[in-house]
Amino acid sequence: MGIAKRALAIKPSPTLAMAARAKAMKAQGIDVVDFGVGEPDFDTPQHIKDAAKKAIDNGFTKYTPSSGTDELREAVVRKFKTDNGLEYDKTQVLISCGAKQSLYNIAEALFDPGDEIIIPAPYWVSYPDQVVLNDAKPVIVETTEAEKFTLSARKLESAVTKKTKAIILNSPSNPTGLAYDKKTLEEIAAVAMRHKLYVISDEIYEKLIYDGFTHTSIASLGKEIKDLTIVVNGVSKSHAMTGWRIGFAAGPKDVITAMANIQSQSTSNPASISQKAALEALTGSQDFLKVMNAEFDKRRKYMVERLNSIPGVSCLMPVGAFYAFPRVSAHFGTRSAGGNVIKNSSDFANVLLDEARVALVSGDSFGADAHIRLSYATSMENVRKGLDRIEGMVKALK
Ligand SMILES: *Cc1c(COP(=O)(O)O)cnc(C)c1O
Repeated sequence: MGIAKRALAIKPSPTLAMAARAKAMKAQGIDVVDFGVGEPDFDTPQHIKDAAKKAIDNGFTKYTPSSGTDELREAVVRKFKTDNGLEYDKTQVLISCGAKQSLYNIAEALFDPGDEIIIPAPYWVSYPDQVVLNDAKPVIVETTEAEKFTLSARKLESAVTKKTKAIILNSPSNPTGLAYDKKTLEEIAAVAMRHKLYVISDEIYEKLIYDGFTHTSIASLGKEIKDLTIVVNGVSKSHAMTGWRIGFAAGPKDVITAMANIQSQSTSNPASISQKAALEALTGSQDFLKVMNAEFDKRRKYMVERLNSIPGVSCLMPVGAFYAFPRVSAHFGTRSAGGNVIKNSSDFANVLLDEARVALVSGDSFGADAHIRLSYATSMENVRKGLDRIEGMVKALK
């Protein structure tokens, strides 16, 4: 009797939990500034919505092939060719219900009990739990601000054992907003090839980059590394389409086939209507992206500058995504105006919410307890107001 061990071993996504708490406070009429959000605050572009409406009106409302429609998979093949210089066959592409399902399919398709999966910290919250859910072992390797939160080949090498099966990379990164340069990726690829490790490369923030940063997919660095890499991407972040649930993966044919079989026995195809919308997102006008990125860029600079002006807070300038990830550990061991002791990032986040009405996610959720994550996917007005409140809260610490 009872719940399976694997289900008991995981916790609900902390970012979603924080969002629920902030939402409940807002519902009570409390004016909360929400820096917890993990999705663009922009609406899905009109031409994409129109494509979905047309799909409904045309009766495109039935099952599609479980791995996604041919036309969408072909569009994804073209996307990888154009954006990343990657050549895939349609059979090497799987469309899923969001990038998250693609990642989960990978975990189910690749991990056996006892396999070690290397995850650099700070990490996206779902990676370790997806590993645990598939009876494998997350091996967390910490990275530092001096390393710009990217995994060095040296640290990777020292974490590899005979049991290592894969590494999970996320560039640009949620939560740090930092990204891997080509040279670092080449060094990581060399380690992966030497030990025959799969590389799971989550590139969901590829299109949200600033300061002229060039995104490199590790799979594009040569045939040998391409054959070890499963690239995950999607339209959720790039086209403000989180609710539509379309993501995709591309990689070695045997891995994609295994993932497709798992999907065919679990969820079947992602929503037919969403697939038409995603097709329009990938093949229609990309003008929206410039508008969204210009706005994110403004908020990014303002937020990071303000954070760095707060005593005991320091923040690297992100080059991608829509998060800032400042260090706040200088304030651990203090007491808030309301008399609460701050021992860690979770206490810091709770005091901010309870006493300053700012919601954000504590760094411990991402394996980096010295930090907190602020999303700037909210209006500039909110960004200003929230930073005023954080500054006030911090200055009142004793
Ligand atoms: C948002 C996010 C995802 C999930 O994207 P969906 O398409 O909404 O499933 C995956 N990885 C990272 C790092 C993310 O931030």
